[in-house]
Amino acid sequence: MSPLEPKATTPSQTISLLGIPYDANSTYLRGPAEAPHLIREALYCNCSNLWTEDGIDLGRSGTFHDAGDLKLPLEAELAGAAIEQSVREILDLGHPLICLGGDHSITYPILRGFKDRVSDITILHFDAHPDLYQDYAGRLSHACPFARIMEAGLARRLVQVGIRTIGAHQFEQAKKFGVEVITMRNIGRVADLKFEAPLYISFDVDVLDPSFAPGVSHYEPGGMSVRDVLDVIQGLRVPIMGADIVEYNPFRDHQNQTGMVCSKILKEIAAAMLRSGNPPALGWV
Ligand code: MN
Ligand code: MN
Repeated sequence: MSPLEPKATTPSQTISLLGIPYDANSTYLRGPAEAPHLIREALYCNCSNLWTEDGIDLGRSGTFHDAGDLKLPLEAELAGAAIEQSVREILDLGHPLICLGGDHSITYPILRGFKDRVSDITILHFDAHPDLYQDYAGRLSHACPFARIMEAGLARRLVQVGIRTIGAHQFEQAKKFGVEVITMRNIGRVADLKFEAPLYISFDVDVLDPSFAPGVSHYEPGGMSVRDVLDVIQGLRVPIMGADIVEYNPFRDHQNQTGMVCSKILKEIAAAMLRSGNPPALGWV
């Protein structure tokens, strides 16, 4: 049994963090490479604290093993190989892993790093966009990662939530790969989702309505609220082995608003990882 096989009754007490400051696979604007250190700054900002909404103190010594930020070459295949190798090494410590991007292209090499460490992954993917293009500015751009992931068999199931721009090509791709797509028009269906362990969460910040998170490259109005997202994450009852938070573009942000949103999502994903499928503690407000 690998150290990361789900153990619902013995939650991990430590979560690994890894910054992946890479945005060279963006198709429109650069900027997400600056995000990882700003998300950490928001997490540890004196303007807030490290308690989660269900009463877990992430400030407890040993909660995070922070592996720092990767130093990556610009070239996509070389950067991908370096990300994959680093993820594999960090997973060997035996903790769940949260990666801070970076543009969304990083999710493909991250999941290659999970292969052979965690099997039969289900992906819960929050995004305005399906990111299922066969080719869009190349096969490795941030518009393509989930086509690569499904082709390579890196997930047994892909569930996309918050989608609100899907053309004919990506609609065909979703059918071809058997992707479950919950669009914004049908967002209520998210309450009926049932997940199997192990779960991986890929969180593209642009799933949120731009009014909640202006610091993204691709504005797509009509999105989820922060509370909508927290309801989904807090309702998860399966062990979560990995996550990424991607596409935060600080150059488009106002007053670090989106940085604080990323920190909030990070905290609640961390809480869900520490619960490891168990319900939140009773008695907390
Ligand atoms: Mn995306
Ligand atoms: Mn997106």
